[in-house]
Amino acid sequence: MIRAKQGTVVQDKHEDECSNISERESVYTVLSPEDRLPLTCTRAGTCCHGKEIWLNPWEIACLAQAHDLPSHEFRGKYTVDGGVRLRMDSAPGWKNLLACSQYDAGSGCVVHAGRPLACRLFPLGRVRQRDEISYVHEGEVFPCMEGCPEVEELPLLSVEEYLKGQQTLPGETAQDGYIELMQILADDALHLLLDTELAESDLRDEALQHWREVGDLSHEARADLMGEAWLDALTTPALNASLTNTAAFVQEHEEYLEARIEKDGSTISTLSDLESLCSLVMALSLHLGTALGLPSAQMVEHWIETAKSHLPPQ
Ligand code: SF4
Ligand code: SF4
Repeated sequence: MIRAKQGTVVQDKHEDECSNISERESVYTVLSPEDRLPLTCTRAGTCCHGKEIWLNPWEIACLAQAHDLPSHEFRGKYTVDGGVRLRMDSAPGWKNLLACSQYDAGSGCVVHAGRPLACRLFPLGRVRQRDEISYVHEGEVFPCMEGCPEVEELPLLSVEEYLKGQQTLPGETAQDGYIELMQILADDALHLLLDTELAESDLRDEALQHWREVGDLSHEARADLMGEAWLDALTTPALNASLTNTAAFVQEHEEYLEARIEKDGSTISTLSDLESLCSLVMALSLHLGTALGLPSAQMVEHWIETAKSHLPPQ
């Protein structure tokens, strides 16, 4: 099982490919849509402190729009880890933990309309197992009880009512779409290795070694390795699709990345260049996985094993 912090729990639908990923596994209470819980927020802002909030490209665009900034400017100003995690560096508050960069102690979240899925879901999480979606909360005790015990005195809401009120659907569509795109990029890297001259060449082991190195890099180092142009293409693409049409946004992003990869591929003249492109595409997939809260070092081992099982004997 795979998870992302602060409420977004995801599991790749391609479970067979990802069943070895367990680094961030935890104990969850599984909920039904009818379960009624103390889901009326106290608005104390305690859960806006000390959290890890991973951002997919659609979420970066939504946050940037809330600030009326171009996406790449928002990324430079308010994100870390190569543009995939929200900066958590405002003045400390609850438990002396640093507040989110989007948190104002007087007025709360300054990007409320564009807040990420993790924030909309919290204190709930979302688990995707193949095509099945379920909602959970972390641990056996309701998460708000630690910081906001007074939540018990506020009206109960069903899980279904809560999700509707939080308008989670566009964010869920983006999350699922980007999981698919992460898989497509990994498949592209596999294709560049398995279906080209690389498969029979001396460079194939080097390619797998490079995949592993890319998976082990820090998120910042991986972003540096990809370079600014590819980081922009992956995390802050200039797309025409409206942010309100989430599926179209992700689809256009996929087409944009695929076109760029194909363009780079069409100019390749040496095996060494082919190997570099293959490693770059794997880096794109892993960095996008990171944006979805997935552990890159474990993801890459899975792809390496998949590649090894399909490579011809030498
Ligand atoms: S911990 Fe729960 S009740 Fe408190 S601010 Fe966060 S969501 Fe609201
Ligand atoms: S984006 Fe808004 S809701 Fe989410 S942690 Fe930051 S301040 Fe809180």
